[in-house]
Amino acid sequence: MRLRVEQDVFVARHLGREVARAVGMEQQDQTRLATALSEVGRVMLALGEDADVAFVMELNGVPTLRVAVENPSPGGAAEVGPQIAQVGRLVDTLEVGDGETGTVVSMARRLPASAPRLTPERMDEIRTGLAEHVPGTPLDELSDQNQQLIAALDEVRAQRDDLARLNAELEETNRGVMALYNQLSEELEETNRGVVALYAELDDKSEQLREASEAKSRFLANVSHELRAPVTAVIGLSRLLLDPASDPLGSEQRRQVELISSSSGDLLNLVNDLLDLAKAEAGRIEPQWAEVDLRAVFGQLRGTLRPLATRPEVDFVIEEPRVAGLRTDEVLMARVLRNLLTNAIKFTAEGEVRLAARAVDGDVEFTVSDTGTGIPADQQERIFEEFYQVPGSQALMGKGTGLGLPYARRLVGILNGGLRVESVPGEGSTFTVRLPVS
Ligand code: ADP
Repeated sequence: MRLRVEQDVFVARHLGREVARAVGMEQQDQTRLATALSEVGRVMLALGEDADVAFVMELNGVPTLRVAVENPSPGGAAEVGPQIAQVGRLVDTLEVGDGETGTVVSMARRLPASAPRLTPERMDEIRTGLAEHVPGTPLDELSDQNQQLIAALDEVRAQRDDLARLNAELEETNRGVMALYNQLSEELEETNRGVVALYAELDDKSEQLREASEAKSRFLANVSHELRAPVTAVIGLSRLLLDPASDPLGSEQRRQVELISSSSGDLLNLVNDLLDLAKAEAGRIEPQWAEVDLRAVFGQLRGTLRPLATRPEVDFVIEEPRVAGLRTDEVLMARVLRNLLTNAIKFTAEGEVRLAARAVDGDVEFTVSDTGTGIPADQQERIFEEFYQVPGSQALMGKGTGLGLPYARRLVGILNGGLRVESVPGEGSTFTVRLPVS
């Protein structure tokens, strides 16, 4: 259409809206496009000459309605541009330019996805419809605009109500969340209080346990100590009875006194072992820390234990230590090694018993290995319990008390080390003592 007089701007506005509706734009977009067109039309008409308005559908990609307003007066872009700057907000693109044919403003707006497809037939229909359309008077247009304004206001009000409702809902939800949070905090606090109380009780209980254990150790130490004197007396007296210088005994009497003598010997061993263990448990052992020369200790062990290793079928090997020395309590350490070596000798019928020492990761490891009876896997921890002896295991000499290994482990603990065993029944055992170098 051509814009000649100001009134035509109203017509253009009306036409713009009709076109926008016909191609499928939503109501608000129809109003936007119509408003943009009337504004551009007004400014372009002011350039002096008649202006032409053209509606073009671009169907490549997203269908887009383009409206071009052209005025043959050249060089108007600089004047028009600033006046219609706000119009850009109503459409997707807005271009102002000086072309060969004059000043051109071109604006475009995309159709919504819901718009019906524009076939050539549909385009023909739209054109015919628009041709039949008789534009109303400016008054009609004003009344139309009023209607649109009212609709827009209604929509704004509805949106505001929606917003208020959403706010209220949000507040409600917030209150709910806060209540839940408070409840959870309370529950957590309650649980914490419970846990704290539980820990306090646990502390009490372990304190009681520790006291009970100490009392037991003290009791054992005292009893063993008290038992030692009478048992030693029984041993001495039975020796005296058996002495050739004493009055002769009948053969039955001699057998019985010998029985008393050997039984009280066993009893003394038990009492001594118990006393040692009780002392270690009661924390009455104060290690004397000093530099220890391992070659010397190994030499002594060789000397004291060789008389026990009497079987020709068993090689008794004390290796040269592969580490010079360490800082520990020599007496306690030697006691542990002697204990392990005695066990090895006791449970090895043939093969060898071997002691070795080497440095491992800044510690010293002693291994006492034998080719004896071995210990079944499920008994390997139990042998460290007091009085435990592997059922059916037959020591080659002496009866044993089942207190040697718990005592050894205790002593190694006092020396800040560890004692462990690896063993295969029928093949042998290796006991490993690990002590810190210093
Ligand atoms: P004891 O030797 O006085 O019985 P220990 O505490 O020293 O007590 O040992 C407990 C048990 O562990 C022994 O009775 C024996 O069954 C088993 N044991 C210990 N050392 C060895 C070993 N080198 N080979 C086989 N069994 C062993």
